[in-house]
Amino acid sequence: MRSAVVVGAGVGGLATAGALARTGWRVTLLERADRLRADPAALLLWPNAVAALRSLGLGGGLAAIATPVPSGGLRRADGQYLAQPTPGTAQAVVVHAEDLHDTFIAGLGDQIEIRTGITVRSMHARPGDRPAVGDGRHTWEADVIVAADGADSTLRARLAPQSIAVSSGYAAWRAVIPWYRAPKLPDDLVLAGETLGGGYRFLAASLGDRGSSGASSRGGIYWTATVAGAARPESKATQLTLLKRWFAGWHAPIADLLAATEPDDLVQQDGRQLRPLPNELAFPVGTGGFALVGDAAHAMPHHLAQGAGLALEDAATLRALLHPAIPGPGCNAALAAYSAARRSRAAQVVRQTQRVGAVLAPRGNLVTRARDRAFGTLAPRVLDRAASVAADWQPPTT
Ligand SMILES: Cc1cc2nc3c(=O)[nH]c(=O)nc-3n(C[C@H](O)[C@H](O)[C@H](O)COP(=O)(O)OP(=O)(O)OC[C@H]3O[C@@H](n4cnc5c(N)ncnc54)[C@H](O)[C@@H]3O)c2cc1C
Repeated sequence: MRSAVVVGAGVGGLATAGALARTGWRVTLLERADRLRADPAALLLWPNAVAALRSLGLGGGLAAIATPVPSGGLRRADGQYLAQPTPGTAQAVVVHAEDLHDTFIAGLGDQIEIRTGITVRSMHARPGDRPAVGDGRHTWEADVIVAADGADSTLRARLAPQSIAVSSGYAAWRAVIPWYRAPKLPDDLVLAGETLGGGYRFLAASLGDRGSSGASSRGGIYWTATVAGAARPESKATQLTLLKRWFAGWHAPIADLLAATEPDDLVQQDGRQLRPLPNELAFPVGTGGFALVGDAAHAMPHHLAQGAGLALEDAATLRALLHPAIPGPGCNAALAAYSAARRSRAAQVVRQTQRVGAVLAPRGNLVTRARDRAFGTLAPRVLDRAASVAADWQPPTT
């Protein structure tokens, strides 16, 4: 039986582990944390992410957990539109990360060996041998080892040492205000789109009131705030106070959302990106090899909200290419094909992310004013094109 070890149980690792197990691989999943869990936040899933979920066989329950996000345009802090919503552009849905996590867990089946509390520290890639990883006490070998261990991947540091994870220059906070605590908003107020200031950004989306009638999925209001600079070391209560100060005076309902947020709702993330991208995203070894998936392969700033979407694309592509492969040259070739397909796709999305970053993220009053003027002409086209290129992806056929 073909075997795989998947290192890391984030979106990328869970999606890949389940996909391989459902296609007949014996899978061992190794996770550093003491249990499998998701952040109490939410994610936007663009059409490419939804297509990847469907291709992985996980699209069935999506309607019950996903809420469409209306096209919202871009606004200044005072609420004035910089770019009106463009009809016909790609639309996202928003899902609670814990609901998505439940979908992945259900998709793992009961054949996977799950080992939590395991920090992978070493790898072995000797010609002719099967690849292996270890935690200093045990070694796990398999035909294919999937490194889904995030932006600061231990395995990538060994396989592609030229690629370094650095700060993207932003701290970001995400929170879901549960439905029973969410502020009552005026009926004509649509939560959509993003609001930009010099070095500050705010986005909110409604998860609806699902959960209020006893449904298992989680409702409420999701928001994310991005601030130029490094992650803040203060307590969550102080971070929330800072957020209220930074976004004071921004258009409704931003102050109401922050007022309804409790410190424990906050999930702070120090944005990471890879510089440069690895030259290869898979490394044939022995009868199989290593594959990089998700942020381990292509961590990038979150301007396009595509990191989890790309991780799902990776999982769908790897599953499709490995499906017919038997250990040996077939598996080596499938991994080489994975690397070629995913390296060019990741490079394309990184390019679009950089373009969008130049529009969304200038700091300082002068540059911000120049940016705002460009919204009359150039910027909306840059943003629409970037969003549609990022969302424009078809799953591989098996
Ligand atoms: C503010 C913000 C908002 C975002 N919004 C969106 C969005 O709306 N939509 C979207 O698609 N993307 C979004 N993203 C990006 C997305 O969150 C990430 O790209 C995605 O979660 C990466 O998943 P992953 O599985 O590759 O890595 P991770 O989620 O980092 O998972 C890695 C796992 O590996 C484990 N691990 C690490 N090292 C080891 C080790 N040595 N041994 C064993 N286990 C290990 C970790 O504990 C973790 O469980 C956002 C990112 C940020 C910062």
